[in-house]
Amino acid sequence: MPSLRNSDLARRDLQVVWHPCTQMRDHETLPMIPIRNGQGVWLEDYEGKRYLDAISSWWVNLFGHANPRINARIREQLEQLEHVIFAGFTHQPAIEVAERLRVLTPSGLSRCFFADNGSAAVEVAVKMSFHYWRNMGQPQKQRFITLGNSYHGETLGALAVGNVELYKSIYQPLLMDVITVPSPDCYGREAGETWEAYSRHRFTLMEEALERHAGEVAAVIVEPLVQCAGNMRMYHPVYLELLREACDRHQVLLIADEIAVGFGRTGTMFACEQAGIRPDLMCLSKGLTGGYLPLSAVLTTEPIYQAFYDEYTRLNAFLHSHSYTGNPLACAAALATLEIFATEPVIERNRTLARTLSELIAPLADHPRVGEVRQHGMIAAVEMARDKRSREPFDWRERRGLTVYRHALERGVLLRPVGNVVYFMPPYVVDEDQLRLMVEVAREGIDKATCD
Ligand SMILES: *Cc1c(COP(=O)(O)O)cnc(C)c1O
Repeated sequence: MPSLRNSDLARRDLQVVWHPCTQMRDHETLPMIPIRNGQGVWLEDYEGKRYLDAISSWWVNLFGHANPRINARIREQLEQLEHVIFAGFTHQPAIEVAERLRVLTPSGLSRCFFADNGSAAVEVAVKMSFHYWRNMGQPQKQRFITLGNSYHGETLGALAVGNVELYKSIYQPLLMDVITVPSPDCYGREAGETWEAYSRHRFTLMEEALERHAGEVAAVIVEPLVQCAGNMRMYHPVYLELLREACDRHQVLLIADEIAVGFGRTGTMFACEQAGIRPDLMCLSKGLTGGYLPLSAVLTTEPIYQAFYDEYTRLNAFLHSHSYTGNPLACAAALATLEIFATEPVIERNRTLARTLSELIAPLADHPRVGEVRQHGMIAAVEMARDKRSREPFDWRERRGLTVYRHALERGVLLRPVGNVVYFMPPYVVDEDQLRLMVEVAREGIDKATCD
């Protein structure tokens, strides 16, 4: 068989496939890149060109492509059981994932409900918190408080509790009405103001919303510390501390969407740990399987679980399901991933890598077209701005990020800026030379994108 060529595959793809989050017409000029294999931080196309995966294949990959431990565990599982209905039936991999997550997550999150992707986990958390209050005899608590600039996924419930205009506004007529509180995102702080002071100050808006609406609110949903899809905007843990206290005081549940920031991304296993808080529901996905297979989990507390535990005929049960709930292959990938955390000093190694990354990106803060350089652990972002001092943004129609994307691809690095923000979210197996390459290529791309 003749070997496959990039151009043939790209042509065939564009005849039949409709890609996610893409204006397909862009591909009249933008090459589609077929990938034949992956190894560690590298992706390789059909003609041997390699790309450094600086964004962990959309934030999912933790320990590299073709990781030997995860590969082996999935192969082993494949010979035993590929899938089984998860209502009335169970299996060792799912039980063990739930047991391990109970130990790893903040104390008290003792129940694990599985779903198969991040958006589905958010739907589960939204329905579960609403239903909890109904079962508790408070059916008037139906609404949700969400943060400005937040992102929780693309299905209608998840889209409704998110706030990224680009993804949401068109579908507004289809979405439930939510209460949106301005974000604590620290990009808006005054010169000289600390992240902590700004986040604390912004909390007054949340407190006001809770005072006004608590009686009709089921839950507040937040992305702890980093609003990833919302241009990698970041805030201080104090906001979460204040939020936990206020949710308790106002009798509102707290949902932490750790889908992107969980599993060591921000420097601790879960971002909530930096605030010393435990949410009432925690959504996990993305890195849960090391980036291998779709799987998500909603962890919650015993009191919430108990509110559903009743006579069948009272119809208090959580009758939510997905065909692939608790898929054994995905659970096996999750187990291998959690075993790596248990047996290797991942978090410590990440701290060293994060320090190196921080040193490498620091000079970009002086770039004349960079408004801010920010970082939380293994997420670092460089925000391009038309005016450095006022932080006036570039018009989105200019698509500056796309210039960076194209440049990086030419240089063999996969960067995928969100709007005007170039960011790094590499797999944890990245080394110092690879970090250096990533940042060097980003700098060239930023120069090119902002040189007019
Ligand atoms: C990616 C993401 C989701 C959605 O997960 P999918 O698996 O893409 O549906 C939800 N919340 C956050 C914070 C995310 O980053």
